[in-house]
Amino acid sequence: MKSYRLKFLLIIFTLVIVSLNFNCSSSKQSVVVTQLDDFYSDELDAENSCSDPLLYSPCLIGKYSDAKLIRINFHFMNSEDKSNNYAPKEGTEVVRQLVKNANLRLSSNEKMNLPIGNDTPVCPPSYQYVLQQDHGENGIFYHYNDELCFFANKGKHRNNYDYEVIKKYSVGLDSVVNIFMMPHIPQKMRDKNYSVTSTGVALGTALKMAGLYETNKKPWEVATLLNHEIGHILGLRHSWNTDDYCTDTPRHSNCWSSRVKGKCAVASNNAMDYNNSQMAWTPCQLGVIHKSFNQLESKQRNLLIPNWCDKNNTPIIIEGHVVWNQALDINQDIIILTGASLTVACRLHMAANTSITVEPDGQLILNNAQVHNDCGQQWNGIQLLSKGKKKGVLVASVESILSDIQVPIIE
Ligand SMILES: [Zn+2]
Repeated sequence: MKSYRLKFLLIIFTLVIVSLNFNCSSSKQSVVVTQLDDFYSDELDAENSCSDPLLYSPCLIGKYSDAKLIRINFHFMNSEDKSNNYAPKEGTEVVRQLVKNANLRLSSNEKMNLPIGNDTPVCPPSYQYVLQQDHGENGIFYHYNDELCFFANKGKHRNNYDYEVIKKYSVGLDSVVNIFMMPHIPQKMRDKNYSVTSTGVALGTALKMAGLYETNKKPWEVATLLNHEIGHILGLRHSWNTDDYCTDTPRHSNCWSSRVKGKCAVASNNAMDYNNSQMAWTPCQLGVIHKSFNQLESKQRNLLIPNWCDKNNTPIIIEGHVVWNQALDINQDIIILTGASLTVACRLHMAANTSITVEPDGQLILNNAQVHNDCGQQWNGIQLLSKGKKKGVLVASVESILSDIQVPIIE
């Protein structure tokens, strides 16, 4: 990977940019390139966290990137006599309805019920599920195995945390959420207080769901369960306690539904509690998810279809003073208008053939930034425009790194 420390790039830019011909460039003047240390106040360092989940809330970053797409597949576990789960034709329809409804619910994020009187913003979750169809497979598998097909979350046959079925049947576990649709253990194996309900458990990048077939529920009735379990895979904890790293999910009694009065007067509607709604995600919860999506090499990022690799031809226009102090994947050109500034303070992916253009009197500030292409391709680099005495300015700290830039721009 070509990687350039800004220290060296500063020299290159002053030598090279002057020879570039831009539309509004009126003369061959040298371009102002300043080191951030000489130029800027300490304020940016305080903001330069890159790690606070709230910085990754789609309320902040949603306008800069497309919704993330999570690969999923399904495994219908059945007994060898094929009597304990859906047949392939029915299973296909179950999956279609379930995924459609889960995606719809995700895109219909609701306002939080708790705390009472809250003004917690409602952000678009900005992620969806896509059935992984490749290698001639439609992403739905059927397995017949009397030993491994059943699910138990109680009693001496309890196996809900076992990985055996996942180890044997998962497909592409490092890059696809594998969803196992399992029947509960047969009646003769159950304790007398064993309840056959729709239930689930997340294990790494796989999850088990049980009870849909026996309870004869409609697929949409377990869509919130699916969203809850995938929420765990994406890094969320149950939110009724205070150990979920989010201050916008208050501690509460985890009531199933609201009652007339008492501690359940207002029940939670959060997706990561147990309640009859599970339709709300907070900015912090979504921030936790998108932070993991934006971390290189995270297990959650590996689950995504890399839709940030393909260029979108609509540019991002920067007006005013914009600070990106979170990692971002951008697949559009960026144009910083005259008088505007963009500060990049973390990792920034630029899709192939995109560029950052700084108009005269605009500023691009790289504060310990890493600007690169995460798809093994090259982006087109930074263009500093000038008109008369007005110049586009690049301000950079020496720790900043530019890499994966196409040769014509920088040499
Ligand atoms: Zn849970």
